[in-house]
Amino acid sequence: MEPVLSTELWEKIIGHCTEKGDEGVFTPQRTLATCLRVCKTWYLLASPYLYASPVVQHISNFLSGADKPISEHLSGILTHSTSSSQELYLQVLQEGNTKLPLLHQVQNLKFYALDLPENRENFDFMKISMDTIDKSGIISNMLHNLTPFTCLTPRLENIQVNSHLFPFGLDEKSMTDLVSKNCSNLSTNFFTVLKPKYWCEYDSPPNVRLSESPKDLSRTLTMIENGYIPKISEFHTSLTEDEPPTIHWGTTNRVSIREKMDVRKYMFPRVEGFEDPKSELEPRPKAQHQDDIVETGSQPESDSEDSGCLAANSADPEQNQFNNNHNNGEWPVEAVGDMDLDCWVDAICEIIQNSRLRLTGKPNLNHVETIDSKTKLHVYGIEKFLTIAPGYAGGPSYIDETTTIIPKIKPEDVDLSSFRGIKECNFTSEQLELRKSIHQSSFKKMESTIREKLKINSSGNWIKTNRKAPEIKLFLAIEHPGCMSCGQGKNDIWKLDCRPRPPAREDDSDWTDEYDEDDDDDFDSDDYPDVDDLIEYDDDDIYDMDDDDDGFLDEDDDM
Ligand SMILES: [Zn+2]
Repeated sequence: MEPVLSTELWEKIIGHCTEKGDEGVFTPQRTLATCLRVCKTWYLLASPYLYASPVVQHISNFLSGADKPISEHLSGILTHSTSSSQELYLQVLQEGNTKLPLLHQVQNLKFYALDLPENRENFDFMKISMDTIDKSGIISNMLHNLTPFTCLTPRLENIQVNSHLFPFGLDEKSMTDLVSKNCSNLSTNFFTVLKPKYWCEYDSPPNVRLSESPKDLSRTLTMIENGYIPKISEFHTSLTEDEPPTIHWGTTNRVSIREKMDVRKYMFPRVEGFEDPKSELEPRPKAQHQDDIVETGSQPESDSEDSGCLAANSADPEQNQFNNNHNNGEWPVEAVGDMDLDCWVDAICEIIQNSRLRLTGKPNLNHVETIDSKTKLHVYGIEKFLTIAPGYAGGPSYIDETTTIIPKIKPEDVDLSSFRGIKECNFTSEQLELRKSIHQSSFKKMESTIREKLKINSSGNWIKTNRKAPEIKLFLAIEHPGCMSCGQGKNDIWKLDCRPRPPAREDDSDWTDEYDEDDDDDFDSDDYPDVDDLIEYDDDDIYDMDDDDDGFLDEDDDM
């Protein structure tokens, strides 16, 4: 087919064919995918739109064909070039490789869970799981056999595994876990062949690092030493399975802990004094209440019992004692319960132990030192799960969706778009500062206990070898600089889950929260989506077209 309009005009038209969908939700791009199949010219015109930020459900389909041999000359240029050149791509197509020009466009790559079949009776997770493992074996071999360190996606910025939203049910959870495991198994291949600058994973199940053969280990070490590993790997976790994620050895890892409510708008507690608690974007304080609330803010000793926290009352003798006596932010151990601290210390030790490179044979200790010293584990947001003991500043602070919050700061200062904003409006700014200092004091204690348990001395060296050990640091959630891949979590602000929520299933209730039955109380029936709203999530996967050769470019195609 000969385009009648000029290539430039077609490019503009094709640019408008992107189907828009909710963030984090797979949106099939049927129009663009069809454009891709028209002719070589359209193939190259549509590919930047279709492949710049693909959401991929079938990793094997996505990568299949990438290993079709092309001349060394072309392969060398492609690996090192980050700009598009139609002539170059045409040459690659002419040499019979239709995948490389597409992969060359990829900048943000999202791996997303497979859709569940419409007929749930035929759902056979074991079979899907086995298929995926088989396919990932094939992909792994294919990628492994490419010329070492050939980069298929030189423009790739980041890889994101699973969406920032919570899966709805147990089966969905199994599917997202499967993606995580699959990506985790393939991660070494991804690093060397796709070379993402940043990595981002959501709620990944733990995947204990197995012993590697000396050959594999040497490849891994070379990979890490030559920078073939993301600069920053982010692991966003709600620790729903109470098991911590496996991090990437040899780079900076940020583990950020979210609460379920961080992203679940429908579970937000009510904030008293606002006309419309549901309109997060434009809080409109009730005029008649405004004065009361401001007054509450300036006189924190008034009526604070309802919110379950202690006011920062300067007349409170117990409070004063702690205010004046705590030394350089060192709070007594009892300020936060031991139990709370211990379980987090164990979790962090487990992360390190599960993720360490398993060295076999006689490892080169200099290698090991380089890699260990490049490994950083920064954990954000543990304070969300630490309970400040009664009697200490800011007091107990557990809140859930049924808690009524009486803001202690001016209503216009309450950030209703984030759970943190709502939670923190429960405290005056002085109380917040004190809470922060108690949490940071607990972090210091935890860091030192973690080092002790892992046999790391106070200068950060392994006690046994006196060589540099990984850096382990704890930070407050508000110190999170934001994920380099998905952008979430900056200052602990998480994008709300505004997706239509499916009605609970009979066989498979929403596993992520135990408050489900109460949800009806808080919401109008309007908030439940029509079935139609959900159908779009069940659509076929279009990004991962079967890239078999009959898709286009048949011998008789009129080019
Ligand atoms: Zn992220």
